Parts: sequence; C-alpha cells; structure tokens
Amino acid sequence: MRSLPEITINSFQLAVLLDEAEKHFYNFVMENLVFCAHCREIATEGIEVTEVCLTAMNDVRVRGRCRKCNNEVIRLFAFGGNEMFYAKACRLRESIKLHVIEA
Ligand SMILES: [Zn+2]
Repeated sequence: MRSLPEITINSFQLAVLLDEAEKHFYNFVMENLVFCAHCREIATEGIEVTEVCLTAMNDVRVRGRCRKCNNEVIRLFAFGGNEMFYAKACRLRESIKLHVIEA
C-alpha cells in the first residue's frame, strides 16, 4: 500500500466513513476505553475530541482531552486494515481534494 498524507477530517466526514458497526465500536471505545496517562486509568468522565485524523494507513487517530484532568489523550482506530473502510477513506480523500480545487 502506498503511503498517504495525513489529513484532518471533521465529524461529518468521520460519520460518512464509519458504517453502523464501526460507529458503535467508535462510540463505545470513546466512552469506555480511552486510557488517560495522567489519571492512570480509563477516562471515566469521557473525552473532549479536539482532532480526528486519517493517517498514512487510513487508520483513524483521535486526539482529545480528558474531561477530568484536561490532559491530552490519543486513541488510534486501526480501521485502515479493513478493505472496505480503506477504499471509502480513499474516496473521501479524493472528494476533499476536488473540493479544495473548486474553492
Ligand atoms: Zn485524565
């Protein structure tokens, strides 16, 4: 697989990328499974998402802040390994590019 530039996507673009199962997984992880290094435990009060990226491998990397201590947390979703997701992500990249040219 060729290496792609890392791009920031907004919440609408993320919603388009994720199918129902992936959405459930994403929400479940964000609510229950993000580890905060500062609190040294799962961020029980949740995460304030500050940035969502598509990585070079078309994985989704979420940066955010722990609502309890405000420390930065990062969670990687290895969706890029899924062929369907990978293809969808490439189409999104194309549409973003076109959008930029039109603007
Ligand atoms: Zn914390």
